[in-house]
Amino acid sequence: MIKNVVIIGLIAIANAMVSYENYKVYNIVPKSEAEVQILTDLKKEGYEFWTEILEVGNDVRIMVAPAEDEEFSNYIKSVKLDAVVSITNVQDLIDAQHNTFSSSSSDRSSSLGSFTWDRYYGLDHIHAWLDELEGLYPDVVTTISIGNTVEGRPIKGVIIDYKPNARGERPLTGMIEGGIHAREWISPATVTWIIKEFLTSTDPAVRTLAETFIWHIIPVANPDGYVYTFSNDRMWRKNRNTANHVMCGTNADAGNGIDLNRNFNFLWMSVGASSNPCDQTYAGPRGASELETQALTNHVLRLQRSGELIYYLAFHSYSQMILVPYSHVAGVNVLEAPNYADMFEVAIRAADKLEARHGTRYTVGTSLEILYAVSGSSFDWVKGVANVPIVYLFELRDVGLYGFLLPPEDIIPNNEEIMDSLVEMDRVTRQLGYYTAAGTVLHSVMSLVLATGMLVLFQ
Ligand SMILES: [Zn+2]
Repeated sequence: MIKNVVIIGLIAIANAMVSYENYKVYNIVPKSEAEVQILTDLKKEGYEFWTEILEVGNDVRIMVAPAEDEEFSNYIKSVKLDAVVSITNVQDLIDAQHNTFSSSSSDRSSSLGSFTWDRYYGLDHIHAWLDELEGLYPDVVTTISIGNTVEGRPIKGVIIDYKPNARGERPLTGMIEGGIHAREWISPATVTWIIKEFLTSTDPAVRTLAETFIWHIIPVANPDGYVYTFSNDRMWRKNRNTANHVMCGTNADAGNGIDLNRNFNFLWMSVGASSNPCDQTYAGPRGASELETQALTNHVLRLQRSGELIYYLAFHSYSQMILVPYSHVAGVNVLEAPNYADMFEVAIRAADKLEARHGTRYTVGTSLEILYAVSGSSFDWVKGVANVPIVYLFELRDVGLYGFLLPPEDIIPNNEEIMDSLVEMDRVTRQLGYYTAAGTVLHSVMSLVLATGMLVLFQ
């Protein structure tokens, strides 16, 4: 099938929203390896797949533009694949994401100040809310900006500290990163909920998690990209740096931006990243070339110098997974991360607790094992360079039915189950001896964990 006859017509006119009117999503379940191969070839031709893993018996979802629908349908028929239309108009889902979900169950307990979790908010509202929190909780919350973007926006966050100036020289610290991929709207909606829970929950386990650590929380690590998903293209992923622009067929905009989660300077551009600016996974001209990457890495290094950074959690969507570093290894090589066994154990227990709330199933493993090989991601850098003990990348709801266009009614159940998993993560991490309730790190345990990991590695 030759696809250069009809090229996807995503042409963004300045300040006009890209329309996904009458874009369809087809669902195909490959029944043999031969059918998997046909789909793999289709993906290579540039069709927008909503599914990452192509396997016999699993749903594969493909978004098709109206202009290429006839050619696509004819081809699918000619190779005898069974395709069902699962979404008749992608634009309808995008529009639905701008609505507020209202139901009797979404009561006032799901709000804090001017913020609710029955809808998705743009950057301005999120940033204004962070300032509002500083006013509401002056003794606990401090807003920070860890740097500025190429379009001049602050990369804003909050510090939550319940015991300011009373934690000794090496305070226990945790950091949470959201929204590094622009179109993954559920990520900032989750991270803002974690902030809300830390400030308002009366659950003793949440209180322990909130108050034991100084939390540094950045809900939107890619502000320019996030704004762009509201103003121009809902499906934008990268940042908005235009310095490396190239033309990509008729799609002038695709050659802009860098995938920030491939830009970190740990095994940069070694696997699962692209050197072509047209690609969604373009890693940038060099490691840590981007202002957002530099802001995050500098901040992590500052926290590592000023305290005991125990947790780094990055939130993405979608796939329902807890990814454990490193993203380029599988099999016995997972032990390149010295305390992999502990991180895996903690994540498995966290996923069990997550499922107990609403029955949502998450899988656990390295990205290479359960998703695909990746290099240059933020969480791998945090593990490999900053050597933080407990590091995860969460891929939130769903597994592809709505994908990035998760309906607003899913926000709160998603957030509830994630909060349960974080509480369990902390319980098991403490049980394994990574820190004590008194707030000190057990260095002997930590070095034992490191030593054990190394021994296994060299066997
Ligand atoms: Zn992502």
